[in-house]
Amino acid sequence: MKKIVKILLPIFSLAVFYLLSGCSSGSVASEDVLGRAESSDRITWGVKADQRLFGLMNIATGEIEGFDVDIAKAITEEMLGEGGQAEFVEVTSKTRIPLLKNGNIDAVIATMTITEERRKVVDFSESYFEAGQSLLVEQGSSIQSIDDLDASTTVLVVKGSTSAANIRELAPEANVLEMENMAEAFTALKAGQGDTFTTDNAILLGMIAEDPNYTIVGGTFTNEPYGIAVNKGQEDFLMTVNEALDTIWENGTYDEIYDKWFGELESQ
Ligand code: GLU
Repeated sequence: MKKIVKILLPIFSLAVFYLLSGCSSGSVASEDVLGRAESSDRITWGVKADQRLFGLMNIATGEIEGFDVDIAKAITEEMLGEGGQAEFVEVTSKTRIPLLKNGNIDAVIATMTITEERRKVVDFSESYFEAGQSLLVEQGSSIQSIDDLDASTTVLVVKGSTSAANIRELAPEANVLEMENMAEAFTALKAGQGDTFTTDNAILLGMIAEDPNYTIVGGTFTNEPYGIAVNKGQEDFLMTVNEALDTIWENGTYDEIYDKWFGELESQ
């Protein structure tokens, strides 16, 4: 009996080893995402669905609309031709990296800042948009800058955002209340659960366009260059995304999309 265990144990361990390593060899990192996109004529993008201007669900059509969505569509067309399909899956700041790592989406284009911390787990395209962190308050609020944030103030942030980490460093005295997503954070501000909501100025622009009782104060106090995130090990896919970005910069498509979403706001 003992002998059988002795013989079987190494076989069993080997089987377990293969099972486990089988999981990793079948992982997203070893998959050819570009090849799959080309043969299926489809790229699945993670986008926000609760951020006016970048990615917002149009209830009437059921489609997500915004700057990030249009850039994703333009890149898809560049990469796969006119028949190429851009599919969209809703992500939040907290879920975008896990969904990418799990292979639910091929790329993230969701107001995502390129940071060294995130570079440890994903790769980024060139930056395609420059934002900066700012504060949203009700008109007439006594908070006018980051210096007004002290132990008596509550700052709303979104989980998994750079804004959450930055504000803890820049206003360490303030109370920080973390929300699941942008819509929830804005609703909490309106309900008086916090004195201010902090995230990127460009995102806050979408909120003041929706409700003029709110305003952006305090200038910008960080740099938030947005990048498209892809899984590590997808060099070909990333290179093609960057080439497509270059093309839409050069042929004017990027400017058209920018003007569509931000043109009117800038002339105000
Ligand atoms: N750009 C910032 C970030 O990537 C804030 C906006 C967001 O979370 O989408 O964390």
